Amino acid sequence: MQFNVAQLLKEPIGATRTYQLDESLIGLDPELIPLSNLTGSLRLLRTHSGVLANGQFAATVQVDCGRCLEPIPAEIEISFEESFRPLTEVTTGRFLMPDEFEGQAEELEDFALIIDDHHILDISEILRQSTWLAMPMIPRCPFGDPESCPNFAERMSEMAEVHADLDETDDQPAVDPRWAALLELQKNDTKKVN
Ligand SMILES: [Zn+2]
Repeated sequence: MQFNVAQLLKEPIGATRTYQLDESLIGLDPELIPLSNLTGSLRLLRTHSGVLANGQFAATVQVDCGRCLEPIPAEIEISFEESFRPLTEVTTGRFLMPDEFEGQAEELEDFALIIDDHHILDISEILRQSTWLAMPMIPRCPFGDPESCPNFAERMSEMAEVHADLDETDDQPAVDPRWAALLELQKNDTKKVN
């Protein structure tokens, strides 16, 4: 998700570009499972020292229900506002010193916020970070309560089976039969002492 901002950087402060996006999120993050395209708008504003990018997007991604662990779709709203800093001056090509940029110290350091020397502004990393921030804290499947969720009931019966198996193994002899004979002898010895 790259935008050439060479022209915008030549324009006066306050100049804007707006893009309507409808983009695949596949490949943005290996952990992310997109179920829809990312849609929404990106607004780029020429500022004194760079470009302020404002994104407002929506997407559907796959998450796991926090109760029954089933994969479920979650509609998320992703938004960000970040100042991007040009690495070079568009008119001369000279490298710009960080102190020529107005912004927070962390923005100066953040490689994700650099407009490269080909004047490409890439929102991918900011979008990736913002997507994780937009994730629901505790995803819930559409079943209101555990009793009405068939997946939850299934999980519970699976658990019950596992417990039943464990109980069964408890009944197995815990002692190696070769030792059992020795233990038997030891018991007899103790009896003799008493
Ligand atoms: Zn659930």
